Amino acid sequence: MATKSNGSLPPFKIPEIEFTKLFINGEFVDAVSGKTFETIDPRNGEVVAKVAEGDKEDVDLAVKAAREAFDHGPWPRMSGHARGRLMIKYAELVEEHAEILAALDTLDAGKLFSMGKTMDIPSGASNLRYYAGAADKIHGETLKMSRELHGYTLREPIGVVGHIIPWNFPTAMYFMKVGPSLAAGCTMVVKPAEQTPLSALYYAHLSKLAGIPDGVINVVTGFGPTAGAAIASHMDIDKVSFTGSTEVGRLIMQAAAMSNLKQVSLELGGKSPVIIFDDADVDVAANLALLGIVYNKGEICVSGSRVFVQEGIHDAVVLKLAEKAKNWVVGDPFDDNSQQGPQVDKKQFEKILSYIEQGKREGANLLCGGSRHGDKGYFIQPTIFTEVQDDMVIAKEEIFGPVMSLMKFKTIEEAIERANSTKYGLAAGIVTKNIDIANTVSRSLRAGVVWINCYFAFDVDCPYGGYKMSGFGRDLGMEALYKYTNVKSVVTPLYNSPWL
Ligand code: NAD
Repeated sequence: MATKSNGSLPPFKIPEIEFTKLFINGEFVDAVSGKTFETIDPRNGEVVAKVAEGDKEDVDLAVKAAREAFDHGPWPRMSGHARGRLMIKYAELVEEHAEILAALDTLDAGKLFSMGKTMDIPSGASNLRYYAGAADKIHGETLKMSRELHGYTLREPIGVVGHIIPWNFPTAMYFMKVGPSLAAGCTMVVKPAEQTPLSALYYAHLSKLAGIPDGVINVVTGFGPTAGAAIASHMDIDKVSFTGSTEVGRLIMQAAAMSNLKQVSLELGGKSPVIIFDDADVDVAANLALLGIVYNKGEICVSGSRVFVQEGIHDAVVLKLAEKAKNWVVGDPFDDNSQQGPQVDKKQFEKILSYIEQGKREGANLLCGGSRHGDKGYFIQPTIFTEVQDDMVIAKEEIFGPVMSLMKFKTIEEAIERANSTKYGLAAGIVTKNIDIANTVSRSLRAGVVWINCYFAFDVDCPYGGYKMSGFGRDLGMEALYKYTNVKSVVTPLYNSPWL
């Protein structure tokens, strides 16, 4: 693994940080307490900016603004077409500002700047466009009633939504939540993760430039147990859409149950299997498996962290993986030659390293990697363990870093059984040219998405979310739009007949 020298960095000037305050009712304001917190550059541990630390009082103000905008403002009342036009304007502004937005996500999260510019930010804009196009196609149904009644349903916006999002994809997560809820006519309070508040604040600024009315989007930066918990337990929020860990998902559900029984959707953790069958092309399989664990430094809920390889092809895949991992470039995420930046923060860095030590202690074979990269910042080498047993901790727990557990299997039935033997069920990958195997295995896996001969094949039209303890509810696609609506039935007697 190589770290590119600073000499090869592109001529990009790191931007001034413009927006660091809470965004409530269309204005940037300080936290009521006046407190701030630091956001840290994971390349070197230095402070990037001090950001307003929102707490319960700030959430109350943001919810008040969102409630007013929902109950009396134009957003839920304007036609879907008009909402869509403003969302398209918003998408255009996001694209125009792609460079600075990508830089903010790199500074906050250590994400590759080149990838942010070409993928994350444009896909945020695509997300807005997709839901802008759907905003005027939200229909109810005409019912075939069993008596002399005329009945139909309306799909109405659910109300004020609380979006609580994680740090690993600050832009994608923001738009996955904000896009469909805007289209549905909801108003909202967004709480970005404390590690990555900067792009969400910039997106708030762009929403105002786009003409989205005040109070529709409010952004409260701050910590989970304070600002996040205040959203989950708020009596005037109608729905919480959460993405994050399974442990916090449980807290969100409890808080919703103990407050106003608000609706909840949860996108949680994963330990996704990639199953490589004997007939697979070794090179293709090794590429998919490596990408599955190093993409976004393994900080992705659907990472393919358990790789099952059939015995006939096992040794060849292991050899190829070792070769490819050796050439993988870890380095400064602002450098276009880097393929992997630093982990998001010190806590995550130390957690991953401790799992690597655990794997060594448990007796798994360390094929490559196994320690930090460099001596500054939070970089970790792509790490592959082979000869892993299903009951080892590294094969069971979500590591959320570039650490693969590779295992051998004999039969299709065994692969299905072992792949399903986890509390999670977010994603799975299958590598085979055999259509019978692909069909049988994809239908037998308990996971929200199955990728056949590809991995991370996300698309705005393709719903994604979990089975089992990976949560419930879907982001993306029309499924996501419907979760921000409520169905109202309207019934009237036919033929103006009296109703007794
Ligand atoms: P996290 O659960 O600690 O934090 C997620 C968000 O919840 C943050 O905004 C945080 O401030 C907030 N939060 C924390 N405690 C809270 C509380 N008590 N009440 C309300 N909000 C609270 O998770 P993380 O460390 O930010 O992200 C990593 C986890 O997220 C991993 O488990 C990963 O699998 C999961 N994740 C899942 C998906 C998915 O789509 N399923 C996507 C990304 C990340």
